[in-house]
Amino acid sequence: MAKKNKYCGKIKVGMEIYKIQVQGGVVADDGKGLLGQADHSKSLIRISTGYNKYDQYKTLWHEIIHAINSERNLELDETKVNQLTNGLVLLLHDNPNLISMILEERFGKNY
Ligand SMILES: [Zn+2]
Repeated sequence: MAKKNKYCGKIKVGMEIYKIQVQGGVVADDGKGLLGQADHSKSLIRISTGYNKYDQYKTLWHEIIHAINSERNLELDETKVNQLTNGLVLLLHDNPNLISMILEERFGKNY
């Protein structure tokens, strides 16, 4: 049995449930290859496997920020989405215990 990619699944962004689909390639309407894409009309985030794991991880956060941007009507441009992605990924990198602290606070268990 093939191992399921750890990024596959669903994620709730506000009132929307996005399906996360990891696939061999993601192509824009103009034929350009992409690391990923958030399709808000289909509540679908697609991540390309054509890049390394770090790029896939960072792309997932990037597309989640696009989804929040859409759900909240923030009107962030691509530069601001990129800056938020870089800031969030760096925050998580520099504070590896942060997720455990949040889960413990939220659910009262040790993670
Ligand atoms: Zn983008």
